[in-house]
Amino acid sequence: MDELIFPAEMPLRIEQITKTGGQIDIYAHLQRTQDCCPNCHTTSSAVHGRYWRHPQDLPWLGLTVRLHLEVQRFACGNNGCPRKTFAGGMTELLPARARRTTRLKEQHLATAYLLGGEAGRRLLQLLGMPISGDTLIRDIRQSGETLPATVRVVGVDDWAFKKGQTYGSIVVDLERQQPIDLLDTRETEAVTAWFQAHPEIEIVSRDRGKEFIKAATDGAPQAEQVADRWHLLHNLREAVVNFLQQQTACVQAVAQAPTVDQDQAEAIPAECNPAEAEVAPEAVPTSLVAQESFSPPTRQAPSPRRQERFDEVRHLKQAGYSNRAISRQLKMSTTTVRKYVEAEQCPRYPAGRVSNSKLTPWLPYLEERWQAGCTNASQLWREIKGQGFSGCLGLVGLWASEQRKLLPASQRYSRQQPETVQPSLIRQTRPVPWSAQRASWLIILDKEKLDDEEQAARSRMLEVDPQVVTVERLAQQFIQMVKERSGQGLDPWLQDVTASGIKSLQSFANGLRSDLAAVRNALSMPWSNGQVEGQINRLKFIKRQMYGRAKLDLLRKRVLYRAPSA
Ligand SMILES: [Zn+2]
Repeated sequence: MDELIFPAEMPLRIEQITKTGGQIDIYAHLQRTQDCCPNCHTTSSAVHGRYWRHPQDLPWLGLTVRLHLEVQRFACGNNGCPRKTFAGGMTELLPARARRTTRLKEQHLATAYLLGGEAGRRLLQLLGMPISGDTLIRDIRQSGETLPATVRVVGVDDWAFKKGQTYGSIVVDLERQQPIDLLDTRETEAVTAWFQAHPEIEIVSRDRGKEFIKAATDGAPQAEQVADRWHLLHNLREAVVNFLQQQTACVQAVAQAPTVDQDQAEAIPAECNPAEAEVAPEAVPTSLVAQESFSPPTRQAPSPRRQERFDEVRHLKQAGYSNRAISRQLKMSTTTVRKYVEAEQCPRYPAGRVSNSKLTPWLPYLEERWQAGCTNASQLWREIKGQGFSGCLGLVGLWASEQRKLLPASQRYSRQQPETVQPSLIRQTRPVPWSAQRASWLIILDKEKLDDEEQAARSRMLEVDPQVVTVERLAQQFIQMVKERSGQGLDPWLQDVTASGIKSLQSFANGLRSDLAAVRNALSMPWSNGQVEGQINRLKFIKRQMYGRAKLDLLRKRVLYRAPSA
């Protein structure tokens, strides 16, 4: 029994085991005839006295275990030793002054690393190893680090202490799949210094930000650099979005409903937007307004104010100001400034989209009643309310006021139309316009992965504009190269892009040219920053688990921790 509970080299003899409440007490004493002075290493067998220690130990059957150990104190026989007495050695199981056994502390520490202070405390309470959250945190702070001595392939990226304000850097050993360092800054100098301290690095994977490129180039000139593949594809998509934002017609074509009768669609002027129709209803032929068909989403001309701001941005840019300076001066976001600087003309945004409202499911009923002559909004509201409509009268009123525009002026405000008048309907069947962002996926995503509707939208878009066909072809070729890691096609591809005359793709290609070696490596080597992003997610999880209160030292320890033989 004794050997079962205590390590063989600890000659403890159990005298009594009792259970009170949720705790098991084990009484034992240490049988040792001699021991070694920790100061002068003289062996002594002169027992000076005995005392008790009451450490906590690993739980037993889910119950907390407390040991009560009687320990000898020996007198040091060496007259020259400043130490007169010393306690019997139990260092393996129980270091001097410890209140818990080493094996319990190991469990506490592992839990602290994985769960943190407060969550760890709660779990350990349930497992019969109660401890305070503060002690767990202290355990982490006091524990040592076991980091690999050498590293061959690293990935580096930044992470946010506070998004948009302060950033740090994380370095991941891509071969061992383990974070190996956390820096409190992403400044080029600090990262460069880190690289200089690790001359054994052969490959650096990083995103396409200037800071890390410079740090890797200066700090680890011996290493090959690899551009992050995700960012390559991301930048490609940005280029496609940028292109589509200029091609208003083709994004409109995406939204076109497939059922539209082409003749009819052409018969409707693009400006015929029911919401904006200011024409006298009598003058409009019913066949045109009470249409079942759609009118293409129009893009409103830029407002004078937006045009003015756009001109101001362009003006300042030509005068040599940086985007940041312009954004400060005009009090605009840097994103908008960049968009204006890159655009050829002031952006036009689609006219308001038709969205589903609470009223949508009730429209068939309302339309039927309206055409039957009931043009009293309150009455209609009461009717659908009785059937379960939960919206307010105003919603029905708005709809009715739209419809009322088509009534003859003399009848417009009658509650009930005479049987001779059959009210027409304005139906909001305009399809929801697509954004360039959304349409860009039709070009970027694998064709096989699109559903039927998206396939149709994609074909419509390609039909409208031969340039889209070129963009689609070039984009797919690039994606293929990234997926298959076939870098040999890169040079002809870059030439193709130059020859295509498509501006946004050309600027994407110029970006690739400025970082060509790393891009080539990305298209041939297996390394990429995906793993680093995963580790950053883990870091964010740990950071938030600590409610953002932890300082860097604690965060660092927990992020770098690796469970033994996990
Ligand atoms: Zn001594």
